[in-house]
Amino acid sequence: MINIPSNIINGQAVKGAEAPFSVIDPATGEGFAECSATSTAQLDEAVAAAAEAFKTWQHTPDAELKAMLHKIADKIEENAAELAEIVVREQGKPMALAQMEVGGAIAWTRYTAELEIPVKVIEDSPERLVELHRKPLGVVGSITPWNWPLMIAVWHVMPALRTGNTVVIKPSSLTPFNTLRLVELINEVVPAGVVNSMSGECGIGSAMSGHSGINKIVFTGSTPTGQKIMSNAAGNLKRLTLELGGNDAGIVLEDADLDKLAPAIFQTAFLNMGQTCAALKRLYVHESQYDELCGRLAKIASEQKVGGGLEEGVTFGPVQNEKQLALVKELVEDARKQGADVLCGGEQLPGGGYLYPPTIVAGLNNSARLVQEEQFGPVLPVIKYTDLDDVIAMANASDVGLGGSVWGTDVERARSVASQLECGTVWINNHAEVLPHCPFGGCKMSGFGVEFGEEGLLEYTSVQLMNISRG
Ligand code: NAD
Repeated sequence: MINIPSNIINGQAVKGAEAPFSVIDPATGEGFAECSATSTAQLDEAVAAAAEAFKTWQHTPDAELKAMLHKIADKIEENAAELAEIVVREQGKPMALAQMEVGGAIAWTRYTAELEIPVKVIEDSPERLVELHRKPLGVVGSITPWNWPLMIAVWHVMPALRTGNTVVIKPSSLTPFNTLRLVELINEVVPAGVVNSMSGECGIGSAMSGHSGINKIVFTGSTPTGQKIMSNAAGNLKRLTLELGGNDAGIVLEDADLDKLAPAIFQTAFLNMGQTCAALKRLYVHESQYDELCGRLAKIASEQKVGGGLEEGVTFGPVQNEKQLALVKELVEDARKQGADVLCGGEQLPGGGYLYPPTIVAGLNNSARLVQEEQFGPVLPVIKYTDLDDVIAMANASDVGLGGSVWGTDVERARSVASQLECGTVWINNHAEVLPHCPFGGCKMSGFGVEFGEEGLLEYTSVQLMNISRG
C-alpha cells in the first residue's frame, strides 16, 4: 500500500478544504485511496505564495538553479521505486513502463537543468548595443492529464523553474498522487512557495485558467478543455502552451519492410495501451501489403499478456478509466456495425478492471468514427489505400495535427510524402518518439507552443530588449 502524499502550499502540507474524492485502481475498477480536494480559497493562497516566492526566486543565479534541478533529479531517483508503484496503482500501466516513466522524469529534469538561457546580440555598432534578454513570466499554472502523469508534470515544472518562474500545479483527479509526491520531493529542495500543488477536479483547473495572479498556463489534455482554458485565460492575457489531442496517421508505402515495421508499428500504436497523445492512431496501408501487415499486427497483439500492472509478466495493462474504456468499446461496436473485421481483441475481459486487449480493426472505410475520432485507447484501425495522393489527403483531412509518420525503405520517397503531412512532428520509420532536445507540439487544433529543447524552455519567458545608446 502506498503512503498518501499531501498537497503542498507555501512549503506546508495542507489538507484540502473540499470533500475528498476516491482514486480508482484501473486493474480492479475499485477505489484504493481517498484524495483530499483543495478549494478555490486554497488556490488563492497557493497563487499568493507562488507570487511572493517569485520575488526572490526569479533572481536565483543560473548555477544555483541548475544545481537545484539536479538535486530534484536525485530526489526522484532516490524515490524511484515508490513513484513507479504510485503510477501503476493509479494510472494502471505495467510496472516496467512505470519505471520507464520515472526514468524519463529523471532524464528530462537533468537535461532541462543543463539548458542555457540565451542572450542574443541584435546590434553591436558605434551607435548602440541591442541585446535580447529573456525574463521569467511569474506564476505558472500547470494542468496535467492522466496518461503519463509524472512525466508530463516534469515536462511542465522543470522548464518553469529553470527559467526562474514559480509554479502551481494541478494533476488530473484520476491520477493525483504521483504529482503530489513529486511536489513533496521538490519542496525538499526549493524554498517555500516556489512549487505548490492543488488536487481537485475540473473546477480548480477552471479557476486556475481564470486566475488573475497566474501569468501562464501550460496545459496538456483534450482539445475541448484547451479551448475552455484559452477563453478563460483572456482576462489577464495569460501566456499559453496548449498540448492537446491528436489523431496521428501513419502511412505504409509499397516498399516497406514488414519484418522490421510490424513490431515497431505495434509498439508505437499501443504505447501505454494507446493512451499516448502522439501514438499512431490510424494506419493507412498500401493494398499490396495490407493483408500481410494486418495479419502480423493481429499476431503480435494476441501474444500480449493482458492484466494488472503489478502482476508478473504482464505486458499490457488496463485502460485508465471507465469513461475512456466506454469510448473505446463504443468505437469498436460502431466499426462492427459498419462491417469491419475485428481481427483480434474487441471485447472487455471479464472481472471488474478496465482490461481491454489490443485490438486490430481491418476493412474500415475512412469515414468510420474509429478513424475520424481520437480513440486514445487500445484499438488500431487499419485502412487500405491504393493511390498516394488520396492517402495524403485522407491523413490531412483532420482538424488536429499532432504527429504523423511514413514507413518505407526508400527514405527519400518517404521524406517527400512526410513533408506533405500537416502535423507538428513527422517521423519516418518510427512514431511517437519524444526526446528532451527535440521541440514537440502540434498544429491546427492539437494546440500551439512547443515543449522541450531551447524553444520549449523559452516558452516560459518573455522578451526584454535592452537598447544601450552609444551616441
Ligand atoms: P482532459 O482535458 O479531460 O483533462 C486534462 C486536465 O484538465 C485534468 O487535470 C482535468 O482535471 C483538467 N480540466 C478539466 N476541465 C477543465 C477546465 N474546464 N479548465 C481547466 N482544467 C480542466 O484530458 P484527459 O482526458 O486527462 O487527457 C486525454 C487527452 O489529452 C487526449 O485528448 C490526449 O490526446 C491529450 N493529451 C495530449 C498530449 C500532448 O502532448 N499533446 C499529451 C497527453 C494527452
